[in-house]
This record gives sequence, structure tokens and C-alpha cells, in this order.
Amino acid sequence: MQKVDKFLPLSRPTISDETIEEVTKVLKSGWLATGPLTQKFEASLSEYFGRSAMCLTSATAGLQAALMAIGVKAGDEVVTTPLTFVATSNVIAMLGAKPVFVDIEKDTFNIDPKKIEAACTSKTKAIMPVHYAGLPVDLDPIYEIAKKKNLRVIEDAAHAMGTSYKGKKIGTFGDIQVFSFHPIKNMTSGEGGCVVLDSEAEKKTLGLQRFHGIDRSIWDRFSKNGSCYYDVVFPGFKSNMSDIQAAIGLHQLQELEMLNIRRRHLSDRYRKAFANLFDKISMQGIPQYDFVHSGHLFPICILDATKRDDFMAFLKERSVGTTPYYTPLHLFSYYQKAFGYKKGDFPNAEYVGERIVCLPLYYDLQKNEQDYIIEQVHEFFK
Ligand SMILES: *Cc1c(COP(=O)(O)O)cnc(C)c1O
Repeated sequence: MQKVDKFLPLSRPTISDETIEEVTKVLKSGWLATGPLTQKFEASLSEYFGRSAMCLTSATAGLQAALMAIGVKAGDEVVTTPLTFVATSNVIAMLGAKPVFVDIEKDTFNIDPKKIEAACTSKTKAIMPVHYAGLPVDLDPIYEIAKKKNLRVIEDAAHAMGTSYKGKKIGTFGDIQVFSFHPIKNMTSGEGGCVVLDSEAEKKTLGLQRFHGIDRSIWDRFSKNGSCYYDVVFPGFKSNMSDIQAAIGLHQLQELEMLNIRRRHLSDRYRKAFANLFDKISMQGIPQYDFVHSGHLFPICILDATKRDDFMAFLKERSVGTTPYYTPLHLFSYYQKAFGYKKGDFPNAEYVGERIVCLPLYYDLQKNEQDYIIEQVHEFFK
């Protein structure tokens, strides 16, 4: 039997020595808030995507600022998936708009594009798909619906740094994408996120939104040639990225491909190792179209839903961390009370929600550690 002498978490970030040196430099520089490193990180991200990238403290802040930048307001509707982290729909609800859930595909765990059009009404302003676990949503039909109905698309790309759809990286095309750099994601800046967008007017709104509605960045104000006066054009939030975060993000961006290659390699090993458990578990389906998975998460479904909790407890006892990402959002009390959703509304999301478990997946997961996890999974089903 394989042995491991430590707890194997669901995820852990990999921070290089270069990153630590860069952070130390920032700490010694006398400038910790938004400054030259944040500008450099944004420039690097913009070069990576070939479009404008704006950094914020989180993807949640980015999603909310993006919704506000495109003019979503109280009474509007935004179509999204119920199988996602609650940030996706919370930001819609916080603006007084209604998150209109559309069921997922049972095999890919992504929103079902075929069901989106029927969910659109005269109040719909945007579609917010999520690239679940790092598998790209089938975007072509979604952008077709958006074009036909004159809707915006904000891709919740929190899992999708390095994901590709039909040969193109997520973020390099389309309308607006929001990425997360939370430490659990496949690329991190400690906490943080970025919004990728094209419209000059929306960039300006987003820039104001993330910093008090002040029309001049703090760096301009305190640097040698900056003016110390500013105007406030609306009451914005405080969600600007710090140079400490940017220092981490800059190095992670350089290391992203290396990190993702390892994650995809480990995912492939899981897939091969579980192929003969097809009557006990299912894995995320492989779409027909050409794609590259980011390798953010490795989800499996325990086909016998009554065994899921036992499965997680069994692994925990053997020092393996797992998480049931996610409880479908329409089952949370707030969403039921505020919008009238109920159990039974989205059968595929519920089917997956009752069965899904994510297994440990991160760059530093060693081969012998993964073999141990695989062995424990097989042991459970024996
Ligand atoms: C993590 C996550 C978010 C929020 O990201 P933060 O950077 O933590 O705000 C949003 N959507 C999805 C799908 C996520 O997994």
C-alpha cells in the first residue's frame, strides 16, 4: 500500500522563490497599494489576452463592476448556471437584478446552451456562463443567441486561466471575461481578479467603480507629477488591487502554462486510473469541439448519491481532502425566498450537485501521493 505522511488538501498554491523575492521587493519599496507593479501586471495580462485587462481585489468585485459597467440595474435579468460558486449570482442579486438559472448539461456540468434562448425575456440584459472546472462552455451558440437578442455576455472565467475553446484562449475573444486569482484557482495573486473588455467607455466606468468613483488614480495623485486634486463622479467601491498582489500575479502569469500542464497531466492520470470504475463514478464529459482544459478542478460524480458523504468521510479519514463543488444555487434559502426557486427546477444541476466531489489537484501533488489517492478511491468501492 502507498503511504503518505501528510494531509493532501484539495488544492494548494505553488509560489516560486522568484515570487517571494518580488513580494519582498514591494514590501521594501515604500509603495504597497495600487502602483507600478499593478500597472505592470495589467500590461502583462493585456499582452497575454491581446485586449485590455483591468485588475481588482477579486473576481467577485470584477463581476459586479462588469455588470454595472454594462448598465445592469434593478429589475433586469441575467441568465446564468445554477452549478457555480455563489459569487456568480450574488453579484446579480446585489444589483437588484434577477439571476435566471438555466439547467446544465449532465455530462459536461456546464450551462446547456440549447436551453438559454427559452429563458430570455424582454428584461434579459446579459448571459453569464461559467467555464466549470476549466472546461470551456460551448460559446458559439451562446454568442449567437446574444447577437440575435442584442444581449451582452460576461463569461465567469474564474476557472479558465489557460482554457482554450476551438483553438483560442478564453479572454482573447468575445465580449467580457472575468478571471479569479484566488489562491484556490489555478493561477493566483493571493486574492485578486481581472476583467477583460474592449469598450473605452466601459473601461472608464470600471476604473471609477473600483476606486471610489474618483477620476484620477491614487498613483497619479501622489507621484511627482500628479495633481493632488480629484473629482468624485459617483460613489464607487474600494476594490483596487495592491502591488503586493500584483507582484505574485506577475510571476504566476509567467508560470501559468507550466502549472496547467502539470494539472492536466495529473487529470489524465486520474481519468485513466478511474476508467474501470464507470459503474461507480462518472467524470466530466469531453465535448465534440476542440478545447484545452485549464485543469483547475478534477470533479467526479459518485453515481450512488447516498454514498457521497461516506466517500468524502472515508477519504478524509485517510488524509485526503475533497469538496462537493457546488450545491446548486437555486437550493439556497435566499434564492428560494427572493426569486421563488425550488427543488426540482433544474434536475441536471441537482443530479450533479448531489453526486459531485472534487479530488486534490495542484502542481505540487506528487505522483506517489496521487497514486495513494487513486488507491483509496478504488479501496472505497471495493
Ligand atoms: C472563485 C469563483 C468566483 C469568485 O472569485 P473571487 O476571486 O474569490 O471573488 C466566481 N465564480 C466562480 C465560478 C468561482 O469559482
